[in-house]
Amino acid sequence: MSEESGPAGRVAIVTGAARGIGAAVAKRLAADGMAVAVLDLKEADGAGTVEAITSAGGRAIAVGADVSQADQVAAGVEKAVAGLGPPAVLVNNAGVIRDNLLFKMSDDDWDTVIGVHLRGAFLMSRATQKYMVDQRFGRIINLSSSSALGNRGQANYSAAKAGLQGFTKTLAIELGQFGITANAIAPGFIATDMTAATAARIGVEFEAFQKAAASQIPVRRVGQPDDIAHVASFLASEGAGFVSGQVIYVAGGPLC
Ligand code: NAP
Repeated sequence: MSEESGPAGRVAIVTGAARGIGAAVAKRLAADGMAVAVLDLKEADGAGTVEAITSAGGRAIAVGADVSQADQVAAGVEKAVAGLGPPAVLVNNAGVIRDNLLFKMSDDDWDTVIGVHLRGAFLMSRATQKYMVDQRFGRIINLSSSSALGNRGQANYSAAKAGLQGFTKTLAIELGQFGITANAIAPGFIATDMTAATAARIGVEFEAFQKAAASQIPVRRVGQPDDIAHVASFLASEGAGFVSGQVIYVAGGPLC
């Protein structure tokens, strides 16, 4: 890989990297030359992603932490630093859904989703920023969603994903002077366990669910985790240093 393609030799932490989009991002950043801490709820769950990276000649370790818990975030970041070195790239990707119409949404549905996406991104960013400031280089990439624009049954999730956009812009303003950029990727429909779970919840076969979604998307297909990894690779690259505070919709067509 050329130096242009990514901050080779730097350390990245990707949350929720055991599967789905996070796993694809972790593998892509490793292919770009970064050492990657594969952070997920349970350390053992990260083994598959770590194995994929190391067997391809990359460096990675698995880290277990719940991103919504400050003590676990502190311990997880410490483990990443001890195992790989100070992080320069953070991808806040860990996520959950607890969909329900407002009148049926429980306190727990609300708190869990806000806790993982929004508080999780806050805790992880706060815990890692000092390492980026020391290096005078950093890349914070937050996973928002097209649901930030509003989506039936997702009051909690859309609030968290819209909140992440404001969070991203504020980090860009505060941290820019230290060589740190902050950007958000807002995916549309990506085929992962998360969208499969939505199909199951509404009683539609996943194939049919994807086909119906694809027919509404200008490029006539649903997204794949690698579509998001490609954008994350760009945002993490050295050359993307003048791109900050942006929300990039990656949805196979325009969204506003
Ligand atoms: P996924 O397949 O469900 O994977 C999410 C990962 O996050 C899982 O490995 C999960 O671990 C982990 N995780 C959940 N809670 C966590 C916590 N508290 N601490 C640490 N890790 C945690 O989801 P995905 O589809 O890849 O989505 C990744 C991100 O993209 C999410 O932020 C999601 O909201 C966003 N996104 C997805 C889509 C889409 O269409 N798929 C669209 C827009 C945005 P467990 O397996 O243990 O639960």
